[in-house]
This record gives sequence, C-alpha cells and structure tokens, in this order.
Amino acid sequence: MSEFKVVCPFCLYVDNIIRFRMKLKRGGYSRKRYQCPDCNQVMRKKTLTREATLHDLAEWLYVCIRMFNKPNEKFYDRISWEKLSDRLKKRGWANDFWESWKTIKENFELYSKEEINFILDGYSRKKIDLLLGTEKQYYDEQRRLSEWISKK
Ligand SMILES: [Zn+2]
Repeated sequence: MSEFKVVCPFCLYVDNIIRFRMKLKRGGYSRKRYQCPDCNQVMRKKTLTREATLHDLAEWLYVCIRMFNKPNEKFYDRISWEKLSDRLKKRGWANDFWESWKTIKENFELYSKEEINFILDGYSRKKIDLLLGTEKQYYDEQRRLSEWISKK
C-alpha cells in the first residue's frame, strides 16, 4: 500500500496521514479534524493535506498569528517553535523559510481581505489557481484521498 505523507504545519513533523487521524469518543475517526501525533495540535483536514510550498507554510503561520492572537488564547502558543526551528534547520529549509517570513511580515498591510481569507481557509495561492483553473481535478484528488483513507 502506498503512503500519503503529510507535514504538520505547527511543528513540521512528517508522517503518514493515518497517524494524524483523530479518534472520536463515540468510536471511529473524525473526517474533518486531524491531530498531530507529535505536538498534539488539532487541525482541519484541508489544512493538513493542502499542497503547500515553504513560503505558503510561512504565510499561513504568520497570517494566523496576526488574525487569531487573542489576549487569553494566543495562536502563537500553538506553534512548537523549538521543534519547528530544529526541523527547518535539519532539512536545510531555515534560510528560505525565514526569508519568506520576513517578506510576508513587511508586506502584510498589502494583503487584501480576500487573500487573507483564502490563506486562513487552508488554501495556498497555488491552490487558488488550481481551484479556479482545474476545479474538477482538485476535487478528484480530494475524493481519491478520502477513499484511500476510508479503506485503512
Ligand atoms: Zn505537529
């Protein structure tokens, strides 16, 4: 059986998607929510399975911090900074990631509301193009993925 690897956007832990499934109290697994086995963060399936470049990942994290940081519940604290930074270094991604981070931070005021909503909704810009251009292909991929998961 082939593997479907995913990357946790909170700590960069990489594993088969099966390991991210979240057990429901009533039995079975959640279809919409997944949980990282390493940092325990819960996220939506589309956040975990989207196609994302390193830049997309930096963008999603930065925008989430800017939009979701509340005085008593900081999105910032959901990120495992130590693990994230360690894994960025080990994979040789650190320079590119922090360059992107800096660019996003400097240009944040230029993001439109629409762009921010797309990013928060788990879509990278690449995915927006994919959605607008070859919508059917995208949904076929999602369906194949769901079928593959439900067979496990
Ligand atoms: Zn994680």
